[in-house]
Amino acid sequence: MTPWTGKSRTCCIERRLATDGEQPLAWPKGLAKYLREMQRTEISELGEFGLIRRLTDGLANQQSSTLRGVGDDAAVIDPLGKRVVVTTDMLCEGVHFDLSYAPLKHLGYKSVVVNLSDVCAMNAKPTQVVVGLGISNRFSVEALDELYAGIRLACEVYGVDLVGGDTTSSPSGLTLAITAIGLVDAEAVVGRGGASDGDLLVVSGDLGAAYMGLQILEREKSVFQAAPTAQPELHGFEYLLERQLKPEARVDIVRELAELGVKPTSMIDVSDGLASEVMHLGTASQVGFKVYEDKLPVDAKVYETARAFNLDPTLCMLSGGEDYELLFTIKQGDFENIRNHPKLSVIGHAVEAPDAFTLVTKNGPEVPLKAQGWDSFQSGNKTE
Ligand SMILES: [Mg+2]
Repeated sequence: MTPWTGKSRTCCIERRLATDGEQPLAWPKGLAKYLREMQRTEISELGEFGLIRRLTDGLANQQSSTLRGVGDDAAVIDPLGKRVVVTTDMLCEGVHFDLSYAPLKHLGYKSVVVNLSDVCAMNAKPTQVVVGLGISNRFSVEALDELYAGIRLACEVYGVDLVGGDTTSSPSGLTLAITAIGLVDAEAVVGRGGASDGDLLVVSGDLGAAYMGLQILEREKSVFQAAPTAQPELHGFEYLLERQLKPEARVDIVRELAELGVKPTSMIDVSDGLASEVMHLGTASQVGFKVYEDKLPVDAKVYETARAFNLDPTLCMLSGGEDYELLFTIKQGDFENIRNHPKLSVIGHAVEAPDAFTLVTKNGPEVPLKAQGWDSFQSGNKTE
């Protein structure tokens, strides 16, 4: 397989995260130590309204569709004659994230981005977010400042407005519930169900890096637990860690497809793993898919690291998940428009038979495509 080495624009955003005097990918000291070393103001000292004032202080709206944001009983949004897209995602400590290696600022950033990614998957432009927080008394005001610094940065980078939310106390842990709103022209809405026989299957960016980033973090966590003074070995894995800790939503792909005059026939974002998302498109569209192993886009570092971990790189690409790339189908007639696009790979095509999902392997034989993606209800953890 020829490694695909294109990088997304995450690097420039990473530099922005790094400019305010911290090392974003420095190994967190573990939440307990981190919170001990941080100046600690109890949330009770501010009270709920004081806390909300502090967290939302100075927010300025950027979207013309935001008529009224934080500070009233509800936000007021003008849909500007378009269709409104709404999506929500809940992240629970211990299920979806582990604060022993996910810095709070990164968590805040990621929790917004995963919602914006769902808006993009409808071919819409994200415009507003609403943030709900359940917080235990383990967290100080300063810790929430960090979390909000990430939330605010994501809003700034993507030009979306934080227009409301709620905070409540929780007996343990941290829960984040984020709702994102987006706008799209009525005729531009793309769902999962529009693919038909012969449509080309396309994915943006590269696959498997977030999963390999998680493997690195899990490995270093085990080392840290066994020997707390050990220095983590993260050097050289920056791209993988970035993809796990600070993914990006592909607003650029939605915009560029529109500029190219290409409207996908179906679309989904890759959160649970490519194989699982291919099946979602197929089931909703009542078609099957043939995916070609040698067309799957992979960064060289993912390939190399998977091998070093004794993992099959293809399995990491198919089932790793959390890539937040866009997976979509286009009419064959649109192929010329995307043919040389550096961020897009054609990885297969739709076939007439519903539920026929196959992987054409590099050696030739076709095997059934298996979805082994993330399922928080079944396993409570990542699948291998
Ligand atoms: Mg999704």
